[in-house]
Amino acid sequence: MSAAPRPSEASPPGTAEAPSGTAEVAGAPSGSRTTVLGIETSCDETAAAVVDGGRLIRSSVVSSQVDLHARYGGVVPEIAGRAHVELVTPVVAEALAVAGLADVPQGMAAVAATCGPGLVGSLLVGISEAKALAMAWDVPFVGVNHLEAHLFASLLEAPGLGWPLVVLLVSGGHTLLVEMAAPGHYRLIGQTLDDAAGEAFDKVARYLGLGYPGGPAIDAAAGHGDPEAFDFPRALAGEGFDFSFSGLKTSVVRTVERRPDAETADVAASFQQAVVDVLVTKARRAVAAVGAAGLCLAGGVAANSLLRRRIAEVCAEDGVPAYLPSREMCTDNAAMVAAAGWWRLGHDGPSPMSLGADPNLFLPLSG
Ligand code: ADP
Ligand code: MG
Repeated sequence: MSAAPRPSEASPPGTAEAPSGTAEVAGAPSGSRTTVLGIETSCDETAAAVVDGGRLIRSSVVSSQVDLHARYGGVVPEIAGRAHVELVTPVVAEALAVAGLADVPQGMAAVAATCGPGLVGSLLVGISEAKALAMAWDVPFVGVNHLEAHLFASLLEAPGLGWPLVVLLVSGGHTLLVEMAAPGHYRLIGQTLDDAAGEAFDKVARYLGLGYPGGPAIDAAAGHGDPEAFDFPRALAGEGFDFSFSGLKTSVVRTVERRPDAETADVAASFQQAVVDVLVTKARRAVAAVGAAGLCLAGGVAANSLLRRRIAEVCAEDGVPAYLPSREMCTDNAAMVAAAGWWRLGHDGPSPMSLGADPNLFLPLSG
């Protein structure tokens, strides 16, 4: 478990319908209570965080199940669900303790939990915990969209970015280019037509015997390899905003079959270069098309060192602010859930206690 309180400046609540000016994260719940406990259990991380005013991270605890799933080469839903049941209460307790909150926390505005998308058995654990605590403390429960939470993660650490933003959300389950005109105002610019970027990293890493999770393993191996060793395909690079990664994965397999002597590091570096080339090309194109005031990265693949370096370079060339959240904010965490929950509470009010898990929930689009 890792606890990472990250102080930042709290600010007065903003309003949902005023998307001009700078990117305010804060919502506008009524009353003086500003503290939200966030709970995240959508996949293989059990996480809890305490965030004040949608901005000030008082605690962020993440317990990863990587060790439990590594031997299977991927997340096993049954194992994930059972591990969440064991971990969620101690993880919440640690988040409250690190934030200096007692058993019955004063000033709690709401308890927020991810309600989708994700693994249904895992989501239900976090939702049930959040509802139970909300009832015990007599505060609202807020269901949070995991994809929206990833968008809020970008803003938690960089509240001063201007609107509209283009967000490249690249994770194990999704690859999306989103125009964010303001919190709650999302337009889908492009998405993957097949595998998500993180899924491609994980599958190629497994094929190359680099282990699980694949993204960090390929990132590390690529550091010793030649990115020009193999010219892997950049699908759809010349056109539009959508992505396709399944052909790239097949191309890696065919190449290694033809060249069994190929250095794994060279294959990893060339694969990573191909993925990053396409992501950067499309993100840059989207920023230009939208006339965006900034580009944000979000999701686990945003932790990739080459992607971060290239995005920073092209944004500097284009004179567009780039925001690269810390690696802890890119991968699944509950601070982003608490931040999105605070804003949703102000915008929509509490969620009904009847709210269930929605494994296929998509970003709420407005145009
Ligand atoms: P999800 O929400 O879909 O479970 P996350 O946002 O937690 O996904 O991201 C997990 C994904 O991020 C995995 O596919 C993992 O391989 C990938 N990932 C993590 N670190 C890196 C990295 N350094 N380079 C590339 N991919 C990475
Ligand atoms: Mg995620």
